[in-house]
Amino acid sequence: MASTKTVTAKRSARKSRPDVGVRIAWTELSVRGVRILQVPALSKLSWLIHGFSTKPGGVSDQNGERVLSLGFTEWDTKDNVLENRRRFQSALGASDLQLVSLKQIHSDVIRLFDAAPSQSCQGDASVTNRPGLLLGVQTADCVPILLVDPKKRAVASIHAGWRGTLQRIVVKAIGQLQMHFKSKPGDLFAAIGPSIGGCCYEVGTEVATQFLSQFAEAPEWFDEFRTGDEPNPIQWLNMMPPGHQPPPKNVLLDLRKANRAQLLGAGVRASNIFVSGLCTACRRDLLFSYRKEGPQSGRLLSVIGLR
Ligand SMILES: [Zn+2]
Repeated sequence: MASTKTVTAKRSARKSRPDVGVRIAWTELSVRGVRILQVPALSKLSWLIHGFSTKPGGVSDQNGERVLSLGFTEWDTKDNVLENRRRFQSALGASDLQLVSLKQIHSDVIRLFDAAPSQSCQGDASVTNRPGLLLGVQTADCVPILLVDPKKRAVASIHAGWRGTLQRIVVKAIGQLQMHFKSKPGDLFAAIGPSIGGCCYEVGTEVATQFLSQFAEAPEWFDEFRTGDEPNPIQWLNMMPPGHQPPPKNVLLDLRKANRAQLLGAGVRASNIFVSGLCTACRRDLLFSYRKEGPQSGRLLSVIGLR
């Protein structure tokens, strides 16, 4: 894997990163002002519906701007969110599918759905092989991941923040697809949607320590805040006696890299993994970022389902 650690954090945001995954061009479906990001390899499957929402085209009033916020928040009305969801599903050609949205709790709880649940259900990933359900994951910085098994016609939607990533939720979701539908990881397609990038996602070193204790590749997922061209960006990770080198308070975590590595480790082919390079914190014109907007942030919705 090529290293990009010699560039500063700021510059690395603009530099293309061949190691971050297959960066084929994503496409944009634009319908009546609603703009939805899609992966061409998934759009080709006529029986599948998928998409990652963006900010424009909605009725929610976010500080005077009309936005497509697809999750319920304190600052927005329920009617606005329902109208936004109606627009989003209509743009996708999925008006007749039932949206299944979990109460997300940053866990590794995965739900199997045979039908739409009658009441709200907690968890951070869902799987199904039933047509008519649209599995949704809400995010505003965290990583939304959609999986599809084109052979068994089964799908999964996954919410992976740092806690879910640390708990290997994407690997566990693949395990559920294997267990319930006999999916083979080598057949799966995975789309890693827009999320906060390694350019902007600052976490405490205690988070880094947890990753480092569990994943051999974890040093590749972290970068240090730097202003110059320091040769060893993760010097603080070395076993240095206390007092010799003050560790930084915060580091940058690339959750996309971490989840892509987990997908590869689970047996998904590199050529079947599609990673959006869009950063929610950098692209506030197009996306929502909780880190940048705080409680006033909207919610993106990523969905996958069988017609
Ligand atoms: Zn960024």
